[in-house]
Amino acid sequence: KLYNQVQDLKGSIRVYCRVRPFLSGSSYLSTVDHIEEGNIIINTPSKYGKGRKSFTFNKVFAQSATQAEVFSDMQPLIRSVLDGYNVCIFAYGQTGSGKTYTMTGPKDLTEKSQGVNYRALGDLFLLAEQRKDTFCYDVAVQMIEIYNEQVRDLLVTDGKIRNSSQTGLNVPDANLMPVSSTSDVIDLMNLGQRNRAVGATALNDRSSRSHSCLTVHVQGRDLTSGTTLRGCMHLVDLAGSERVDKSEVTGDRLKEAQHINKSLSALGDVIASLAQKNPHVPYRNSKLTQLLQDSLGGQAKTLMFVHISPEPDALGETISTLKFAERVA
Ligand code: ADP
Ligand code: MG
Repeated sequence: KLYNQVQDLKGSIRVYCRVRPFLSGSSYLSTVDHIEEGNIIINTPSKYGKGRKSFTFNKVFAQSATQAEVFSDMQPLIRSVLDGYNVCIFAYGQTGSGKTYTMTGPKDLTEKSQGVNYRALGDLFLLAEQRKDTFCYDVAVQMIEIYNEQVRDLLVTDGKIRNSSQTGLNVPDANLMPVSSTSDVIDLMNLGQRNRAVGATALNDRSSRSHSCLTVHVQGRDLTSGTTLRGCMHLVDLAGSERVDKSEVTGDRLKEAQHINKSLSALGDVIASLAQKNPHVPYRNSKLTQLLQDSLGGQAKTLMFVHISPEPDALGETISTLKFAERVA
């Protein structure tokens, strides 16, 4: 009971951290000294010697955490979507830190390595099935990408990728596809991935420089009273948070970097002001926060899931990721 009260006081923003394992072939000393409960202690060697810095979150997942373990901590959020709440789950971190792994999984996907997106939808259908004597649920998904503050619909089937005309708030007028099973969702996610790859080459991997968002809309009808409720869940794989050296990039790359920088700090500002119960929440400073306005704040629940790489050469980005996360916690 006390625990619930504490949760209520803290509002509905949670912050998790996950450390990526070393990739095969690499063997360094980890920047992560150790993890205890919600604390992560980072080695910060300097010319003055050995240093340590500790950061505190609602949950920290070590390198050994499996996809199933990570997801089990998110399951209550899935349940609340069916109860009519709006939920946002963000994956934040520098490129290569494991955001897409958490949300989708690795390239050679197996059932065991499936990420949050698949598991969330699987759970949603399972729970809806369990409630079928009392509730009737309709589920539909949208998938969009935000690149340079422009919204693109990823669920187009004619091969033509268009920018959404919507300039206002809320989810754009992207295709809304009804789904009734996990396999429907897998088909759509594959379509979205293919559309996302259009125009991108291996060297020019756009996926790390755009935000992608899978939105699941749920409408439930109470079979006895006839009342309906709506909930939705946004699963957002954010653009890489690494800062680029302004002296090294120019033109399009600089413009991209500025857009990413602006939208990630706008997201941080929104979540930080919600966490501080600040009456003014600056939703309007980026496309992402404008689109998600209805699902950030109020009764909505937010999970900021930050990712860090364990390699010493990533230390600078690791510290700045953890500072970002601590600010919104
Ligand atoms: P990001 O989306 O943040 O750029 P990725 O998810 O693509 O990073 O991860 C980079 C690489 O590390 C990929 O090859 C991915 O499969 C691998 N990887 C990331 N996280 C894990 C993990 N927890 N366990 C195993 N491999 C991982
Ligand atoms: Mg990625």
